[in-house]
Amino acid sequence: MTSALLNLKDLDREGLRAALAARGHPPYRGDQVFRWVWRRLAESVDVMTDLPAAMREDLRAGARLPRLEATDARAAADGTIKMLLALEDGRDVECVIIPEGERRTLCVSTQVGCAMGCSFCRTATMGLVRDLAAWEITEQVLAAERVLVARGDARVLKMGRGQGGEVHRRLTNLVFMGMGEPLHNIEATVTALRVLTDDAGLAFPPRRITVSTVGLVDRIPEFLERTGVNLAISLHAPDDEVRGRLMPVNRRHDVGEVFALLKTLPLPRRRRVTFEYVLLAGVNDEPAHARTLARRCREVLDRVKVNLIPFNPHEGAPYARPSPERVAAFQAALQHGGVENVTVRRARGDDILAACGQLALEKLAGRRRLPAARP
Ligand code: SAH
Repeated sequence: MTSALLNLKDLDREGLRAALAARGHPPYRGDQVFRWVWRRLAESVDVMTDLPAAMREDLRAGARLPRLEATDARAAADGTIKMLLALEDGRDVECVIIPEGERRTLCVSTQVGCAMGCSFCRTATMGLVRDLAAWEITEQVLAAERVLVARGDARVLKMGRGQGGEVHRRLTNLVFMGMGEPLHNIEATVTALRVLTDDAGLAFPPRRITVSTVGLVDRIPEFLERTGVNLAISLHAPDDEVRGRLMPVNRRHDVGEVFALLKTLPLPRRRRVTFEYVLLAGVNDEPAHARTLARRCREVLDRVKVNLIPFNPHEGAPYARPSPERVAAFQAALQHGGVENVTVRRARGDDILAACGQLALEKLAGRRRLPAARP
């Protein structure tokens, strides 16, 4: 078994310093190893030649540097690439690269499956299989960059300066909108975000990362304080009657609670929380829904924006995408109600089931289906 070995990719810098100190190495060696792992992308401790030989020997025997490989990468007609990563226990996780102009966004997963049970979501049909470890979250970014390189997409984007020189990345933005509920796996998600935003790590500016939550209201303040990233909340309905039908989480944290949080949440200047609103034909897309939503948003107007997501259909889902006219009317009604900041998400990669909310494994990876650990 590998579990007795120290996984050098599963800790943030602070954690690595502590873990190495516990093995008798000075804490500053933790910073050095951290930079080797995340900046110089070392694949073994043998290359870490500025460490004392005895320390290298200790890590060679007692630590590991695993990586995740993409076993399948499919490009959609619009350039979206859906990747399947093989986990060590034989399960898989999906993530999606979304190119758009100068941007290359990776849609990251935090769990295999999801426990939240939203009625319109394809991942929900799997239930929760398991949490991802921090390194399995972070590694999606490195694996995606390797996929881009392997596809001959050599464009490198300068991300500014981090500790130890200029940082070049092939991805520019991260959205935690893949499989799973990030705040239901909060410790691993926070550790991964620390590595991703650390100046000595992958050096993503926190404002280029958006984490989307189903609305686990009690965990949001702590999460934002610990990470500084952008937040999106899946609202999907203006009232408890409709939201309760779509999202079981509404029984624990209802619409009123979400808006109450918005009023008190400490936000950096000019930073806004995004309300995501999946438009389901005949369910939550009436002009009356838009008017109610606008009325509630008016109380927190300078703190929110709304992102409308026309439903991405998948087999077996009892919903349909509203017509473009209907979507435009909903947007107009919100704006008429005083909510200026409303965008409509363009569906990407829907020909390969890579669009938002379409990630679920059993069909794509039917070749090796495993029973759920926790149904
Ligand atoms: N657990 C997080 C991330 C989910 S995926 C959350 O609930 O926010 C990101 C967004 O896609 C969420 O707003 C989710 O509700 C939405 N979504 C899920 N299935 C969808 C579908 N079939 N079409 C459009 N959006 C969907």
